[in-house]
Amino acid sequence: MNRPKRLLVANVAWAHETAARNPGFFCDLVRGQNPHVLWIGCSDSRVPAETITHCEPGDLFVHRNIANLFHSDDDNSVSVLEYALRVLKVGHVIVCGHYGCGGVRAALLPPDPGLPHVNRRIAALCALATTHREELRGHASVRERVDRLAELNVLEQVRRLRANPIVQEANPAPLVHGWIFALDDGRIKVLTSGYEADDAMTCTTAAHSAA
Ligand SMILES: [Zn+2]
Repeated sequence: MNRPKRLLVANVAWAHETAARNPGFFCDLVRGQNPHVLWIGCSDSRVPAETITHCEPGDLFVHRNIANLFHSDDDNSVSVLEYALRVLKVGHVIVCGHYGCGGVRAALLPPDPGLPHVNRRIAALCALATTHREELRGHASVRERVDRLAELNVLEQVRRLRANPIVQEANPAPLVHGWIFALDDGRIKVLTSGYEADDAMTCTTAAHSAA
């Protein structure tokens, strides 16, 4: 059986199992969505938002791209934010990066001429790496540098989101959180919590010492 066929067969099984477990499940889905969280994560196949948080369809409004980036001049990410806040009125925006991120690693390497779109996409991440060059050099291994830049990247996206007019003008105002997922134990670490909006510096320091 080819791979897409396997996915389709698995889908039939999932639909049957879900309906058996909760007969009203699909009726609820048809009625509409009412997610409370906008999740901005990495496209990496190892970090599926719903799976790692035990969420169901309908729980998360999700935007994923390489290295969980948010650009205010990118209609893709901004349209998701706009819809999430102005229509769905989510209360929380969570940026979730992950350690061992290939997009973050690419920002620390010379540009790959075969990936012009990726290079353009991660340009801001390269600039962030340059800004924190001295600190990153202080980490002994490439892995540590990648992981620290992944943390700094999450904090930078949170900063951009909190400064975005769509977030600032939203009523009710959403809380913007910065999380990072560890591939080696499946746990999420909170780098900055929207409940303490001024804790970014504290968390930057804490994350640094933990890195
Ligand atoms: Zn990644």
